[in-house]
Amino acid sequence: KTVLRLRGVDRAYNEANHTLQILKGADFELREGEMVALVAPSGAGKSTLLHTAGLLERPDGGEVFINGTACGTMSDGERTARRRNDVGFVYQFHHLLPEFSALENVMIPQMIRGLSRGKAAERAQQLLDYMRIGPRAAHRPAELSGGEQQRVAIARAVANAPLVLLADEPTGNLDPETSGYVFEALSALARQSGLAALVATHNHALAERMDRVVTLAEGRVVAV
Ligand code: ADP
Ligand code: ADP
Repeated sequence: KTVLRLRGVDRAYNEANHTLQILKGADFELREGEMVALVAPSGAGKSTLLHTAGLLERPDGGEVFINGTACGTMSDGERTARRRNDVGFVYQFHHLLPEFSALENVMIPQMIRGLSRGKAAERAQQLLDYMRIGPRAAHRPAELSGGEQQRVAIARAVANAPLVLLADEPTGNLDPETSGYVFEALSALARQSGLAALVATHNHALAERMDRVVTLAEGRVVAV
């Protein structure tokens, strides 16, 4: 089953005296349970691709389908609802809420979706256990290591059981060993839940361990 599909996606930014065409006729498909690495140089358009796929930005042309539904004609409100249901984001810097514990950070998106405090806490603890940071659940982000923080961020991103996880350099500020742990945790979670992931990374060793690798060339997504 295809959970994410880009068809002929165009995206350009207008500069002072020229247009920067980042995506041009980009096609891409991500299937259930698949982990795909997106490896391309800085400035190539990886974040643009992830933000367009995740409905944070609208393409100038083409269409984004999430779980078979075309999202182009949706209102902003419909796109936000679709994103909250079906898409999880992980960034290089975790953006955890500093005043809240790891557990609470994973609970909050679930409570925004209407889950009770008790149910949200139960699932949050399960996810943190699964990411092997259960014992750190009561700590605030500042009291956790970089790798632990990223594992909390991943748990938060998948808390509402999205279909698609979009990760932008999720191990970009971690040392190689910690990157390996975080990647292991992410792929175990993906395998267990059937989650599909598109992971932008500069880390070739990690990219090699995913199901396939794509890059950006002349605005298109191409296999490596
Ligand atoms: P990557 O994630 O591969 O580093 P980005 O998608 O962030 O690439 O950026 C691709 C290019 O588009 C870069 O040259 C960047 O400066 C430019 N860009 C990104 N976002 C904007 C924006 N909102 N307005 C103008 N230019 C942008
Ligand atoms: P909320 O407003 O409840 O945080 P959204 O649906 O607006 O949820 O956002 C979903 C995800 O997208 C969150 O992980 C959020 O951090 C991220 N996000 C929202 N807006 C932007 C943006 N402009 N750029 C990058 N990420 C964003």
